[in-house]
Amino acid sequence: MGMNLLCEVCEASNAVATCRLCGRNACANHIDSGGLCSICKETLCKLCSQRLSVSSCTICGRIICRECSVELQPAIRVCKECFSKILYSESYSKYRKYLRRFAKNL
Ligand SMILES: [Zn+2]
Ligand SMILES: [Zn+2]
Ligand SMILES: [Zn+2]
Ligand SMILES: [Zn+2]
Repeated sequence: MGMNLLCEVCEASNAVATCRLCGRNACANHIDSGGLCSICKETLCKLCSQRLSVSSCTICGRIICRECSVELQPAIRVCKECFSKILYSESYSKYRKYLRRFAKNL
């Protein structure tokens, strides 16, 4: 019938599903049981594994989504785990200078 769609990840196999996040057609090798294509999976937030990342943590380097991170300064974003380390751990105290803008909330 010529209705077969190609996987938009490998462009080699027939697509069997559509990614629930980006809408790409993907073959069985490139979609996971949660309905995510391998491209989205790679860019998924390392903390929640639910949302696409928007940035990476300045401290630990993991990619993080908006909800799982705190923007300390424009272009300086840390994950919520590292944010609490900044607050409570001496070894992260050099980052506390960024916390002035949060002073009201602390
Ligand atoms: Zn594929
Ligand atoms: Zn996708
Ligand atoms: Zn997240
Ligand atoms: Zn972090």
